[in-house]
Amino acid sequence: MFVRKIGIDLGTANTLVYVPSRGIILNEPSVVAISTFDKSVLAVGDEAKEMIGRTPDTIVARRPLKDGVIADYKTTEAMLKYFVGKTLGKFHLFKPEVMISIPSGATPTERRAVKDAGIAAGAKEVYIIKEPIAAAIGSNIPIGSAVGHMIVDMGGGTTEAAVISLGGIVSCTSVRVAGNKLDSAIASYVRRKYNLAIGEQTAERIKIEIGSALPLEKKLKTEVKGREMTNGLPKTITLTSDDVTQAIQAELQAIVEAIKLVLYNTPPELSADVMEKGMVLAGGTALLREVDKYISEAVGVPVFVADEPLLAVAKGTGLTLDNLEAYKKSLLLMKW
Ligand code: ADP
Ligand code: MG
Repeated sequence: MFVRKIGIDLGTANTLVYVPSRGIILNEPSVVAISTFDKSVLAVGDEAKEMIGRTPDTIVARRPLKDGVIADYKTTEAMLKYFVGKTLGKFHLFKPEVMISIPSGATPTERRAVKDAGIAAGAKEVYIIKEPIAAAIGSNIPIGSAVGHMIVDMGGGTTEAAVISLGGIVSCTSVRVAGNKLDSAIASYVRRKYNLAIGEQTAERIKIEIGSALPLEKKLKTEVKGREMTNGLPKTITLTSDDVTQAIQAELQAIVEAIKLVLYNTPPELSADVMEKGMVLAGGTALLREVDKYISEAVGVPVFVADEPLLAVAKGTGLTLDNLEAYKKSLLLMKW
């Protein structure tokens, strides 16, 4: 069957591709490996991520999106080309329609850049959808109703918090604190407390294996290998979930402040809806243990985690493509 429509969640950490009636067909890190020699693209996605931190001088592994926006146009275009090409396969007759999600705070220039990159990657038409809207649709929130709904998308580079009503964003904010910042907080904590240097991938593994926003009743533990700072020799320590909880408190607090700010800037009727019905968390960082409880206690609002938080935005782009006509109204707002 030919692919005519493609939904893309262009994330700072991962790029997901959704094809209507097939679902998520591709999920790879947003990484491109480039030769410093002639600037050619050597690998994209999974293969390129393997190279981070262990590349020889002649290869650099780049994340083309930083803090949710295009930091590097050429690499983003190369990445989109690779993902669109992989989705379409070798023999395709039609250029697909493509829906790409971008952060709500992206500037018109950044939106234009994503659109151009999509066209250059082989799309017939590129539609842009704001990430919180896509996350809400993908989390099955009935965004068209006149009720205030809150969605908090906590990804790798940014946390986007938004209140949505009647299909539009009423108030929102984006902070550059999310999964990556948690990783660096863990790495600096380990350096400070145990004199041990660890890489970003190790810090992420620790977070996923044992990390928790609140102290756990049943503590978790993991072994961590790193380099002793004083003598440069390899050393192994055991880290507990309490270590991680302590390491990431300031970052979690920053996320809570962002959520509070959005609620503060929301008209009272709509924030009352949120207070009553609660908010939904999406994005990979929503999978952190106890993060829903942490936010709920700090903000005083019920908190729910979306069904498959890592997939919410991609599903939302696909569902929107599937019902393009119905969504045209809100999409029209994004014509420029
Ligand atoms: P983006 O939209 O920025 O690409 P994602 O929504 O894909 O981000 O989320 C990626 C982030 O989620 C990464 O920082 C990753 O470490 C984090 N993450 C993934 N799984 C878990 C987990 N089980 N616990 C905590 N964090 C997780
Ligand atoms: Mg995302």
